[in-house]
Amino acid sequence: MKGLAMLRIGEIGWIEKERPTCGPRDAIVRPLALAPCTSDIHTVWEGAIGDRHNLILGHEALGTVDEVGSEVRDFKPGDRVIVPAITPDWDSEAVQRGFSSQTGGPLGGWKFSNSKDGVFGEYFHVNLADNNLAHLPADMPLEAGVMLPDMLSTGFLGAENARIAIGATVAVLGIGPVGLSAVAGARLRGAGRIFAVGTRPAAVRVAKEYGATDIVSYKDGDTVEQILRATGGTGVDAVIVAGGGPEILMDAINMAKAGSVISNVNYFGSGLGDKDVLPVPRVGWGFGMADKDIATGLCPGGRVRMERLAEVVKYGRMDPSLMATHVFRGFDSLEEALLLMKEKPRDLIKPVVLLDR
Ligand code: NAD
Ligand code: ZN
Repeated sequence: MKGLAMLRIGEIGWIEKERPTCGPRDAIVRPLALAPCTSDIHTVWEGAIGDRHNLILGHEALGTVDEVGSEVRDFKPGDRVIVPAITPDWDSEAVQRGFSSQTGGPLGGWKFSNSKDGVFGEYFHVNLADNNLAHLPADMPLEAGVMLPDMLSTGFLGAENARIAIGATVAVLGIGPVGLSAVAGARLRGAGRIFAVGTRPAAVRVAKEYGATDIVSYKDGDTVEQILRATGGTGVDAVIVAGGGPEILMDAINMAKAGSVISNVNYFGSGLGDKDVLPVPRVGWGFGMADKDIATGLCPGGRVRMERLAEVVKYGRMDPSLMATHVFRGFDSLEEALLLMKEKPRDLIKPVVLLDR
């Protein structure tokens, strides 16, 4: 079979591989809709998680089940499914402690395009199919459904970890598809005022649609100063970090008030200086005593998560298809879609690839 792979740091290409084999509790799936992720860009072009050789990329997919193992109960060949980006080992110790994305070590639930071939192949392998697949509702548009495995799950996690009280003021830094999903998540969690920090007109339009009440542009001056001014100097109850380089944490902490949560879902593909560190502002963090918590999290995966996200869409709480600005057709267009994600033209929020099936 054919797949679009990371050949080495800085290089992608099409390769041939054996079709994966199916264990008794697993499934082999063919892609139905695919989306490249900013994380694929960090992985390939920043070498963020180290070198990988001929590893098939991609972790955002809807698919059609091709084969299931003998112990799989709820799925059969031909079923259309949502495939979570994160596919934990549900019988592991980290799950019992409540952190399913970190099974088998830090970020261990992230298998596709990290520790095994991803979903950008003609076939891909899903471990523990009954736990890691969800049925795709028949009337869910593919452009909407393909946002669930990672964008909605991650953006909503940003809002969930931010402990948003009803009426709280929230700032979302970065309004790519993750940040936009975080804006929607903050509204669903009951936020009052929501600042969205970003400049691209396409993203700003969707941010307003998803519930942003204030748009803050760095072109109008320092974003921390703007948000402090707009809140009478007090700052915000929660900051969701969904973009930016190492220094973004400084902004986040400096605009947050006591009792706040800085909820990070951003992937820091690189740090600052030889020590490869992320800076925290000493004074803004109250010399380490400011009652400002920093929360972090990897996209939650698994079947129940995907089923709940599908309910959000089904009952009209938000429309994820608004983020699918560039729609490609056919497996071969995947490379163009991935490179578009790397180039990030101004009108891009998220490219998606639909397959004929
Ligand atoms: P994206 O690149 O489309 O969006 C990030 C946005 O942040 C960009 O529009 C960028 O212009 C903006 N930005 C940069 N510096 C900024 C600043 N100082 N202030 C405000 N905005 C700034 O990326 P995305 O696809 O939305 O993903 C966001 C981040 O989340 C990426 O780092 C991605 O790798 C990561 N991610 C994490 C998880 C997870 O499980 N935690 C899952 C998916 C993606
Ligand atoms: Zn991702």
